[in-house]
Parts: sequence; structure tokens; C-alpha cells
Amino acid sequence: MAKPIIIGNWKMNGLSEEADHIVSVLLTYAEQNQNFAPTVICPPFTQLYHIRKHVKNTPYALGAQDCHIAEKGAYTGDISAAMLKDVGAEYVILGHSERRAEHKESNELVNKKAVAAYKSGLLPIVCIGETKEERDSNQYKDVIANQIKGSLPEHFNGLVAYEPVWAIGTGVSAKNEDIAEVILFIREKLVAQYGENGKKTPILYGGSVKPNNVKDIFAIPELGGVLVGGVSLIPEDFLQLVTIA
Ligand code: 13P
Repeated sequence: MAKPIIIGNWKMNGLSEEADHIVSVLLTYAEQNQNFAPTVICPPFTQLYHIRKHVKNTPYALGAQDCHIAEKGAYTGDISAAMLKDVGAEYVILGHSERRAEHKESNELVNKKAVAAYKSGLLPIVCIGETKEERDSNQYKDVIANQIKGSLPEHFNGLVAYEPVWAIGTGVSAKNEDIAEVILFIREKLVAQYGENGKKTPILYGGSVKPNNVKDIFAIPELGGVLVGGVSLIPEDFLQLVTIA
């Protein structure tokens, strides 16, 4: 089986000094180790151009955390997928629950962003996942089914990340059997939507992934990798995930 992919989402963290420190620890590790799991780091926009020079020709790929739906134009403050590609990104996280909640991003908007990413040659990492209320009221499968149907475009070449909102940043990941149930559910929906191609889409888990729980998480059937928040800012811990993978 292919090694799981490890994706680090720095969120709105990483001033120059911190970013340089993280990258230098990652690079030192890469010089001393082979047999790498695919690893992607997603710093804030402001660090992409700088970091790309350092990670070029290393095992690390670069991703961004959002993009606009248009290629260019009068959209003050926004960043297009083409711009991300231009500065060396290969991936882009879309529809993260923090953006869905704070920027009111709908499934429809996330879908358009995934199309924009595809057109610019980026691999979208589309995030889905239920809130605590939706889990407690047993609506989570309906929510996830709707997110898949609404957020994923007709032609989808990317990855899906299941991130239950209630497990993000809490230090307590979802239980393995709960993750396993949803991962299989997502796989069924992807196969229903995309046929054979739906069998190949990597499905990731995110939400308080740490060195001490990642081994069990990697053992979940059909799991294609992990999307990591807090731990991606602690390079020594993040690299433990890479080693365990
Ligand atoms: P934590 O790993 O900090 O829980 O964050 C998960 C996440 O939101 C990654 O996108």
C-alpha cells in the first residue's frame, strides 16, 4: 500500500522567524533520511514564495490554504489559484471548516474554488466534516453527503479531508471507529459520484492528529493520510508523523 500523505496546515501562523525555523528543521531531517512519506506544508500566503526556494528539489511539496474562484481581476485582497501555482504551490486546502464558519463559505463556493484550482493545475484538498451539534443529533452522515455532493466538482482530481469540527484544535481526536465509519461512508459516496475514479481519491482525516495517536489512525482502512494543524508548527513532532507513516 502507498504511504499515507501528511499535510501540515499552518493556518494563520508563521512569521518569518518561526517559518524559517520550521523549514530548517524539516530540511535537516530530509538530508538525513530517505524513504519519505509524501509530505505537504501549507504555510500562509505570505511565506509561500520564500519557502518554495527552500523546498524545491526536496521531498516536501507546498500547498496554500485557500484561493479565489477567478483567475485574476478586481478582487481586492484575494489570491487566485494561478498565483499560487506561480509561487510553487501544488496543493490548495479548500472549504476548511474555519473558512466555512468565519467566511460563510458554502458548498457551492467551495465547488467553484475546486474548479479554479483544477484549471490552474493545483490539487484541491477539500475539507468536509460535521459540527458537534450535527454529530450529537445524528445528522452527520446527511451533512457529509451534502458536502460531498455540493463541494466536489464534476471533474475532481484532488483529495478529500474529513475533519470533524469538534475534533479540531481540541487535543482529542475522534475515536478510530467513528473515523473509520465516516471514511467508508465517504468512499461509498465518492464511488457513487465518480465510479472507478472515486476509488482512487485519497481520503484524509484531520482533527488533533499527534505523534501518539497517528499510528492507530494510519491503521484505519481506506485512509489516505492526515491533515494536521497544531502539530505542523512543531517540526520535531510533525516529523514523527512522517517517520511513523
Ligand atoms: P489540529 O490538528 O490543530 O486539530 O487542526 C486540524 C486542522 O484543522 C487541519 O486542517
